[in-house]
Amino acid sequence: MHRKINILIITSIIALLALSGIQAYLIHNTYQLKKKAFLAETKKVISKIDDETPVIDSLETVWSEKFLGLLAKYKMKSISKDSIMNSLKLIAESANPHFVEAYNKEVKKVGLEYDIQYQKNILNIAIVDSTGIDTIFPTRQEEGMFFIGEDFPKENGYLISTATWNSSFQSDGSEEDLAQIPLEFEFVVKTQDLMNIADWQRIVFGRMTALFVSSLLLFLFVIGLLFYSISALIKQKKVTDIKTDFINNITHELKTPLATLSIASKSLRTDTVVQSPKALNSTLDIIDRQNSRLQKLIDQVMSNSLGAEKMTLQKEPTEASVYLRQMLQDFELSIKEKNVAVKADISPEKAELQIDRFLLTTALHNILENAVKYGGDEKSIEISSQFNAKEYLISIKDHGIGISSKNLKEVFEKFYRVTDGDRHDVKGLGLGLYYANQIVKAHNGHISAQSEVGQGTEFIISIPLNV
Ligand code: ADP
Repeated sequence: MHRKINILIITSIIALLALSGIQAYLIHNTYQLKKKAFLAETKKVISKIDDETPVIDSLETVWSEKFLGLLAKYKMKSISKDSIMNSLKLIAESANPHFVEAYNKEVKKVGLEYDIQYQKNILNIAIVDSTGIDTIFPTRQEEGMFFIGEDFPKENGYLISTATWNSSFQSDGSEEDLAQIPLEFEFVVKTQDLMNIADWQRIVFGRMTALFVSSLLLFLFVIGLLFYSISALIKQKKVTDIKTDFINNITHELKTPLATLSIASKSLRTDTVVQSPKALNSTLDIIDRQNSRLQKLIDQVMSNSLGAEKMTLQKEPTEASVYLRQMLQDFELSIKEKNVAVKADISPEKAELQIDRFLLTTALHNILENAVKYGGDEKSIEISSQFNAKEYLISIKDHGIGISSKNLKEVFEKFYRVTDGDRHDVKGLGLGLYYANQIVKAHNGHISAQSEVGQGTEFIISIPLNV
């Protein structure tokens, strides 16, 4: 059974881990999808602004015209490639404030709940004519050139689109400021649009809050359920074990008197007993003793199983030190043959307790009897008492086999007996400490225990004063 529970716990943990893995994978996928959708939706807005805003269009027309003029001049060899690029940069710089302003206005109009930055980069400019392809930009190992928009590092940007702009230039040589000779060429400009959204992760995560919260709650719920089921199962198992132990113990306890009774009753039929009044009496004595032993066992099970809530106390005002001394005297009488050293240190000061003397004596005797039963080879018991304004404390200490801290937590449970260690020969039903604890509880007090294996055990009983 223990193995089965362990297997169940391990399997549940593995299943839970697998479930968490799948959940994490699904969340990761949802994150990727949400991110994709978010970027696509933003890209769409920006492309729309770029394509459909007249101010931006007109700015583009202006610079494209100027650009054409520059290319024509270059073709006529009146300017160099570098000066085309420098002039382009200057054109972009002067147009940029208007562009950014127009762009920001449009973004505001769309009503996005976050800030986006946008930039256009030129990747490549080339002239194609009958002589071949002449690359204007990039000439060396340059990267794309920031052209217009907001300047942010490229690595922070998301690609919106790349575009290739093809156009042709034709002049018959009549334009004044351009070519005085006929010119014809095609040019290709490759551009790349990037956007940068500050805090986009936060925005995507924000859109997933409901998913996160519900997953977390579900996860906690499953863990709680699992924990509850397993602990209920362990508790159930413990109760079953304890009950089985109890049945074994009581069967064992009943066996000896019953066997003795059977022998005694059989011997009553024998001639030796029938003819000798002495032998008859002694056999009847045996029958009496075994009978009362059986009676005692049954009483123990019946009455010692009572819980504190079912107990009705017959409280009487009692002077503590006198009561304790008498109780101890009775106990010492009952263990006369057992060779136990009892040391008492009862507080001589007067303190009045309201107690059910019969029941409290039962509780204290149970603890004292245990000190003898589990007291080791050289049995010695120390009993002491003291009190303060609130409570009367009685300590019962032995130097016996002790109880491990794991078992100490359980010794007050009904039918609980420690099974480990060298104590199988000591008889008991696991009711003594349970009953003692219930009696003290019914007096609104409490029992605590401290113990060390091989060193001994101390029980401290606290009874409230003035109650
Ligand atoms: P039992 O009938 O077994 O003595 P109790 O309820 O009196 O039942 O005690 C429960 C268990 O606690 C015992 O089985 C014993 O193992 C342990 N125990 C109780 N008192 C002592 C003690 N003074 N020293 C060591 N072990 C003790």
